[in-house]
Amino acid sequence: MKKRIAIYGSTGSIGRQALEVIAENPDQFIAEILTAHSNTDLLIQQAVQFQPNVVIVSDELKYEQVKSALSGHPIKVFAGEASLIEIAGSDMYDILLAGIVGYAGLSSTLAAVEQGKCVALANKETLVVAGDIVSAAAKKSGALLIPVDSEHSAIFQCLVGEAHNPIEKIILTASGGPFLGKKPNYLINVKKDHALQHPNWTMGAKISIDSATLMNKGLEMIEAKWLFDLQNEQIEVLVHSQSIIHSMVQFEDGSIKAQMGLPDMKLPIQYALAWPKRLKNDFKRLNFKNYPSLTFESADTKTFRNLALAKEAMFKGGNAPCVLNAANEVVVDAFLKNKIGFLEMSDIIEQCLEKVAFIEKPGLQDYKDCNTETRALAATFFK
Ligand code: NDP
Ligand code: MG
Repeated sequence: MKKRIAIYGSTGSIGRQALEVIAENPDQFIAEILTAHSNTDLLIQQAVQFQPNVVIVSDELKYEQVKSALSGHPIKVFAGEASLIEIAGSDMYDILLAGIVGYAGLSSTLAAVEQGKCVALANKETLVVAGDIVSAAAKKSGALLIPVDSEHSAIFQCLVGEAHNPIEKIILTASGGPFLGKKPNYLINVKKDHALQHPNWTMGAKISIDSATLMNKGLEMIEAKWLFDLQNEQIEVLVHSQSIIHSMVQFEDGSIKAQMGLPDMKLPIQYALAWPKRLKNDFKRLNFKNYPSLTFESADTKTFRNLALAKEAMFKGGNAPCVLNAANEVVVDAFLKNKIGFLEMSDIIEQCLEKVAFIEKPGLQDYKDCNTETRALAATFFK
């Protein structure tokens, strides 16, 4: 039986690589549902090639264009966030790959989780914003969350066969991004083109900037906390610039398991879709002799303050990670539009964390309101 895959965010970096995995394994997977926000040209092209059952464009203004372009095909076309949510909660697919970027991915991912579906999770922001609600919903419904993020996929893989062995700690590896070793006097002048050049990975714009500021690692700490049910103190970050060890788990006997490979997101995507099987592929293999030394160092959180702010928000709990995420989405967008500088991103996030009222036990509506309020506040810091 082929697994029917719903790719939410099929036009993105994760979505496109997932379609490559599906195309390479036609006997295993079928692209059943594709979604995009506004890149209709690519969405239409993907739909013509993969002939999914359903296509959803979340920007409703683009509905007519997609509908008429696909009119000669047996493909149902829907539009709007409500359709994303409705189809996510339906029985029309087997695995939902959550590849929408940012807060926008929360509602559909949560709908799938509430219905007990299998979710291959790339959209880390869902767990950053509302990890408590999403994990409680998964426990209740029996939904399975399989991580796609390479670090979390590594940890997930290290935990195979260890169900009865408690974790002492996890070590999330970080490449350090394009500005590893740089100081504020350098960072003050960096522009988006440079910040988008990640040394080891090719990714969407938002996560590339998050990697350059180390916010990505902060978001990943919070993601790991909820995925693996960890205490904050059990989560450690280690800079490993070669990105060969994707992360590690230390058990109570002191033994450490690591998962390694060349940095290629298609591997964790394929693993999540094929789980619990491993599929044979022809991805490039790691040759250790090309990496005679693997290096490890602490993260410079004095320079890369976003990581410190994220850690602070994780320890504070409540709506603090939601504030962190919303402020970060606004400042990353502003940085990408050349409205603010690299270091200003941390300043604004810090201000938002200070100013937005703390809620200890937020409900879903509190998170929604907090997201809206923080975005509005963050935007007041620049024109
Ligand atoms: P991209 O920016 O490349 O793609 C984002 C996708 O989300 C696109 O399909 C886009 O549609 C869609 N989208 C954007 N805004 C909305 C919206 N408001 N409503 C619905 N859909 C929307 O991002 P990535 O693929 O890089 O990242 C996706 C997620 O995966 C992120 O959460 C990221 O942190 C995570 N991730 C990514 C990795 C990577 O290697 N790229 C690695 C690990 C995690 P459109 O194209 O039409 O705008
Ligand atoms: Mg990652």
